[in-house]
Amino acid sequence: MLGVMGASVVAGLTACGAAETSTPAQTPSGAAASPEVPGPNGALAVGGEVPTSSASPTPTATKRIRRTFIPDYQLPPIVGGLAPVITKIETKHPVVFLTIDDGNIKTPESVKLMAEYDYPASLFLTRDTVADNPAFFNAFKAQGSLIENHTVTHNINMVRQWGYQQQVNDMVGMQEYAFQHYGRRPTLFRPPGGAYSNVMRQAVADAGMKAIVTWEAKANAGKMDYQVGNSLRPGDIVLMHFRAEFAADLAAFRAAQLAAGLEVVLLEDFLGVA
Ligand SMILES: [Zn+2]
Repeated sequence: MLGVMGASVVAGLTACGAAETSTPAQTPSGAAASPEVPGPNGALAVGGEVPTSSASPTPTATKRIRRTFIPDYQLPPIVGGLAPVITKIETKHPVVFLTIDDGNIKTPESVKLMAEYDYPASLFLTRDTVADNPAFFNAFKAQGSLIENHTVTHNINMVRQWGYQQQVNDMVGMQEYAFQHYGRRPTLFRPPGGAYSNVMRQAVADAGMKAIVTWEAKANAGKMDYQVGNSLRPGDIVLMHFRAEFAADLAAFRAAQLAAGLEVVLLEDFLGVA
């Protein structure tokens, strides 16, 4: 069982580091005119219009229809007991995936903005950071987002400090918490801090999840940070956090999304693990 021990501990990518200095958000002006309208959440701002929330009804669960795609990417299976690790989706579809972590800062503004832009997102929540108000996240769920697993305690050193069983316990605790409060057991796992190992991959599979999800771009401190290039590309997985800078971070993401002509779709829909 522990024959897979050791191997690749990938360095953390400061997913959940200390607060960083906030910079003013860029406004999504001059969005590139794409020959193809990317979709509902992109179409709102074609021609650089500012979306008006009064003109369109607030998205509801019944409005959002689960998207299906002609698949050009398949989630790698669990092999040898190890869950796959996904950093980016290799696809030709003009799509981008938004993921939002932790859950510390809970503001009505973040709910309003996500509804206004009609963005579905994968919310990697930590039990200990949402436990003061788990119901807050129901609003995102009603808009089409899903709750995923970011552990119970958010130990960013879990790969180094904990063995298999302690990792499983911290994952299963969140699986059950999510099921109790949101009615679904998560299918995706994000490691606190971003570091993973083969032991963690085994723990993720045994906790009942399909994959570890990392990222290639982040919206942080009001701007975009790219690990590759200087713009969003089809299939990118973008990391954000429920932080005080949520509005500035989301504005930076929106500007990049529109400039790249990509539609925000739910990662779970694309992978078929919703
Ligand atoms: Zn985190």
